Amino acid sequence: RIVLGIETSCDDTGAAVMDEAGRILGESLHSQKEVHLKTGGIIPPVAQRLHKENIHRVIQEALDMSRISPSELSAIATTIKPGLALSLGVGLEYTLKLLKQYNKPFIPIHHMEAHALTVRMIHPVQFPFLVLLVSGGHCLIAVANGISDFLLLGQSLDEAPGDILDKVARRLTLIEHPECTTMSGGQAIEHLAKQGDRMKFNLKSPMGQHFDCNFSFAGLRNQVTQIITKKEKEEDIEKGQILSCVNDIAAAVQHTVASHIAKRTHRAILFCKMNGLLPQNNAALVVSGGVASNQYIRRTLQIVTDATGMALLCPPPKLCTDNGVMIAWNGIEKLREGIGILHNPKGICYEPKAAFGADIS
Ligand code: ATP
Ligand code: FE
Repeated sequence: RIVLGIETSCDDTGAAVMDEAGRILGESLHSQKEVHLKTGGIIPPVAQRLHKENIHRVIQEALDMSRISPSELSAIATTIKPGLALSLGVGLEYTLKLLKQYNKPFIPIHHMEAHALTVRMIHPVQFPFLVLLVSGGHCLIAVANGISDFLLLGQSLDEAPGDILDKVARRLTLIEHPECTTMSGGQAIEHLAKQGDRMKFNLKSPMGQHFDCNFSFAGLRNQVTQIITKKEKEEDIEKGQILSCVNDIAAAVQHTVASHIAKRTHRAILFCKMNGLLPQNNAALVVSGGVASNQYIRRTLQIVTDATGMALLCPPPKLCTDNGVMIAWNGIEKLREGIGILHNPKGICYEPKAAFGADIS
């Protein structure tokens, strides 16, 4: 059995063809990152236009590489939510065209569930496990009980960690920094933080008094913005120029994001242990999403998992950010279990029951 996976939820056009054993037969990915870096953020109609320009080529490349013709596919799996409506629409419209033309079943994919289960492609981690998703649009922690069965323990009450790293990077105009011109905000912060001293700035860790497993990053962003404004005055530089203490700011913000994520994750682990939600032996914490490619954050989480006797599992960085492979893999997992397969999809406005529930939109 073979699945074609299609991803267009945000700013990456991705496609992959995968067989039942989880082998990638063909894949292709077009990133719009450079365009959006220049405009300082994603403009949805621009993302939509770029998806439209690239989707045919990306899908064709994945199919060509796999030497599989669309008529040989068992099903097509496409991200239906969450994401930018205009971007999602491009993938769904193209999917519908293929489904009609080749009369194939459709497997609707929840983008966050796909991020959560990607690790099973490369590591045979068994359910239940704890999963932390840290990305540009989300921050959530859940117990994965099955392919389509998640218990949400906590989520960000405001912004996502990738989002605040991107905003801080933009405020510091890191796109103008000679070492960071092609990096996303998160990558630029990680790169500069290696040369900085986090102790130079004292940032308050969020939610010290909140005895739950939720996250919050907006207050941290405000703290950093105030520091940047103050430093700009002190150094008497124009907006847009690079501060001399940029490495120290990057190190401080990265450390505070890492420590907040680690503290909330620790709470979630203790909650799971108290309530018997995870296996007594070999319990695992899976971390994925674009921010999970940050090595400092991984090392901080490793301290928590070592202290609590858990295994820390992260997909390789390439699979942490958006791609077609994770969508095809989620399709394969659903096909194997025989769940969530639609044989006669009528339109693209399909709203399945999301396993993460209404908490994510
Ligand atoms: P979502 O999955 O929530 O819809 P998304 O798909 O836009 O959001 P991803 O592609 O998973 O998000 O991740 C992109 C985010 O990851 C960006 O905010 C980027 O700054 C961040 N990121 C990428 N690399 C790193 C890194 N090395 N350190 C920290 N953050 C990073
Ligand atoms: Fe994503």
